[in-house]
Amino acid sequence: MPREHIPAEVVRRVWAAAGIRCGYCLAPQHIVLVSLEIEHLVPLAAGGTSDESNLWLACPICNGHKSSKTTGTDPITSQPYPLFHPRTQNWHDHFAWSDDGLRIVGLTPTGRATVAALHLDSDPIALEVRSYWIAAGWHPPAAQQS
Ligand SMILES: [Zn+2]
Repeated sequence: MPREHIPAEVVRRVWAAAGIRCGYCLAPQHIVLVSLEIEHLVPLAAGGTSDESNLWLACPICNGHKSSKTTGTDPITSQPYPLFHPRTQNWHDHFAWSDDGLRIVGLTPTGRATVAALHLDSDPIALEVRSYWIAAGWHPPAAQQS
């Protein structure tokens, strides 16, 4: 599917609004080797637009797992829930770090469904890289507004 052109000024505002980190795993750009990506909260394939209100920042791992998904399944209730919406919802209301800092734990049905859909507790590359961030003292991030 061809991507719509997103004006540079909109891209700049989205990066700033997202705090220059992934909206799902909170990976900050300054410790990620690849560029974070502008993602469509409602994917184009699911009828989303490239309006600024539908754009956020994600790392390639989270964006790749998210793909065209808009919902996930809460593993506790087996019910579908909309994925976490980083533009309108607070990360800390829906997620926490595991005690060792490696994994993201869902606190709510939306959080659990998003963890499952985006592999936030299981992507092997993310877990390995995060283990080095922990060893370096870079992770988990200090609690902050999200
Ligand atoms: Zn991420």
